[in-house]
Amino acid sequence: LVSREVQAHNTVVRFGSAAVGGDRFAVIAGPCSVESEQQLLSVAEMVKSHGAMALRGGAYKPRTSPYDFQGLGIEGLKLLKKANDMLGIPTVSEVMDVSQVEKMTQYIDCFQIGARNMQNYGLLKIIGESKKPILLKRGLSATIEELLLAAEYIYDAGNPNIILCERGIRTFETATRNTLDLNAVAYLKQHTHLPVLVDPSHGTGIRELVIPLSRAAAAVGADGIIVESHLNPCEALSDGHQALTAPMFEQLMQELKPFVEAA
Ligand code: PEP
Ligand code: MN
Repeated sequence: LVSREVQAHNTVVRFGSAAVGGDRFAVIAGPCSVESEQQLLSVAEMVKSHGAMALRGGAYKPRTSPYDFQGLGIEGLKLLKKANDMLGIPTVSEVMDVSQVEKMTQYIDCFQIGARNMQNYGLLKIIGESKKPILLKRGLSATIEELLLAAEYIYDAGNPNIILCERGIRTFETATRNTLDLNAVAYLKQHTHLPVLVDPSHGTGIRELVIPLSRAAAAVGADGIIVESHLNPCEALSDGHQALTAPMFEQLMQELKPFVEAA
């Protein structure tokens, strides 16, 4: 169902005012985690003012250690809704468990399936019954074929509004957090009609590498990027070292202007 052989034209996935897979290069931006009202609304305003199409922010966080910040949960979802109501910016947030699907539906516009859940087939089947778009991230060590089959689960369950996301894979390299697989982006654009995003934040883990890899994503033909940004990264409760500061986010949008504004 997700193959180019069954559908030649590109699928465009829409939520609110956002469209991923169309003529414009999509930029989805925001903090790794929703931390407080002040933190979320200020970063949302900043990314929107520079042209971000949608706001990201985790309310349920899949942390490696159980002792790290686990997210604000329902309070975080309410803050995402508030940002949407105040600024008119659609929102994306990660769903970690089938028990969260129903309550999240009223607060956010697009579900993110995180890398750690790409092969949670029970979750994929349930989310496939949802009417909202799904941003499906590639698993930490998943092959491209496995990513496409995960998308197939969602599509087969009735939801064709799927955005694929390359977020870096595990390799022998340790200088960067992950190895961003741009081969996968070019391959996916040839073999599936679904839109493909790149996440240069998790792909590199280093804020100074996010702008160069965002340019690379545009060059290789990705439909957009999802990037982490924070007004005060030193104090971020998760992924601060890969969050773009406000001046860096502004620079990113300047550099991507020809792609973001393409007619
Ligand atoms: C995230 O987007 O903050 C996240 C946890 O991403 P991933 O699932 O790609 O690690
Ligand atoms: Mn993160």
